Amino acid sequence: MTDYRRLRVALLGAGAVGSQVAALLRRHGDELADRAGAALDLVGIGVRNPDAPREVDLPQELFTTDAEHLILGADIVIELIGGIEPAREYLLQALNSGADVVTANKALLATHGPEIFEAADQVGASVYYEAAAAGAIPIIRPLRDSLAGDRVQRIMGIVNGTTNYILDRMDHEGSEFEDVLADAQALGYAEADPTADIEGYDAAQKAAILASLAFHTAVPLDAVHREGITSIDKAMMDSARHAGYVIKLLAVCERLTGRDGSPESISVRVYPALIPREHPLASVHGANNAVFVQAEAAGNLMFYGAGAGGVQTASAVLGDVVSAARRHIAGGVGVGESTRANLPVSPIDFVETRYQVTLDVSDRPGVLASVAGILSDGDVSIATVEQTPSGTGEDPRTARLVIGTHIAREKNLADTVERLGRSDVVERVVSVLRVEGD
Ligand code: NAP
Repeated sequence: MTDYRRLRVALLGAGAVGSQVAALLRRHGDELADRAGAALDLVGIGVRNPDAPREVDLPQELFTTDAEHLILGADIVIELIGGIEPAREYLLQALNSGADVVTANKALLATHGPEIFEAADQVGASVYYEAAAAGAIPIIRPLRDSLAGDRVQRIMGIVNGTTNYILDRMDHEGSEFEDVLADAQALGYAEADPTADIEGYDAAQKAAILASLAFHTAVPLDAVHREGITSIDKAMMDSARHAGYVIKLLAVCERLTGRDGSPESISVRVYPALIPREHPLASVHGANNAVFVQAEAAGNLMFYGAGAGGVQTASAVLGDVVSAARRHIAGGVGVGESTRANLPVSPIDFVETRYQVTLDVSDRPGVLASVAGILSDGDVSIATVEQTPSGTGEDPRTARLVIGTHIAREKNLADTVERLGRSDVVERVVSVLRVEGD
């Protein structure tokens, strides 16, 4: 083997991802050394309980509870603990002691990203986080490097495997949300407490990371509009299918160029949306993830694969370790995060998209005209209307109207739906869904 310079690698965390990173680093050490131009010596693994059983066989002497000692003297620190503290404190310590850091911690980057990137800038180190937005799928490097010469207009991502698994099964099997969720928990696709996934918190963290990179702007997590999938039911799925759509939980990051001459801004939002069944994202099944990027010059690009999983995510982490090693060997100052565009993040009210509004209305003459009038007064223009005759829906005295709108502003749509709900011809607003990707 070539007599490479040796780099000290400290690993924090040996759970689903960390244990696989340690195993791959040891198994493919020679190959990785050839690619990195440096031998990567795993000098220790910081955990809470050194005696806990591990998914893979690792030498017991590598384990320690003294993470701080491990960090001192390391060239590269890999943080795979998760959560905010002590991960944040350890990453800052690592950067301040001159190490490059690799992390998969979306929660930390979405909430404390600017502090961590600033700390890296101060010492000329680099933060690598390919695994933080879409697991094994390479998307951070494409946005940061490959598309650095282009202008990203829009990203639509399926970035949460649990919700895609649930919605995909509801679509295929015609099942109800609660039944599929219970099954997903039994099969290990959803956690015992599924809140972070089904309420869109996990996707919102990833959206903040992707939007920050794509638009060269630090996007705070609380600027991301977030809705989960708990209100999606079988009837909505059936109606979507009937109209040629599928419902997906989407992270949408969009550059807004004001039609009325208002300054450029961005919108970052997570919600369940209808997408046409022929759109590439409609064919993302099971727990897979995909990120669809629209750039001014490059056009449409799609990145697809496993958005989670211990060994899959370890692949992205190890790619980062090799990059960090190459930088360490080359020397010089790390490339900082580009936040120079510093675009304002618009509230959801300013977003413009198409909608599908489903109403149960009284089945009597003049109702359609009344509904059309309320929409027109609210500056929401109708593209399509489908009416299910009375007697065929859930309530035999009402007819169901499925209205597709032209592009409308969210605020106008929300006000209009509120007025529809108060109108005496509307018995019930059944659902309101945005339409994306057509
Ligand atoms: P995990 O299975 O829960 O493992 C966490 C590890 O961190 C455990 O080894 C644990 O030690 C250690 N740890 C926890 N608190 C610690 C502390 N205070 N000091 C030292 N060690 C501590 O987590 P994971 O699923 O591997 O996820 C790791 C990171 O990768 C997270 O940021 C996650 O969001 C991200 N990620 C995960 C996936 C995935 O598919 N799992 C995908 C993409 C990104 P003990 O073993 O002793 O308890």
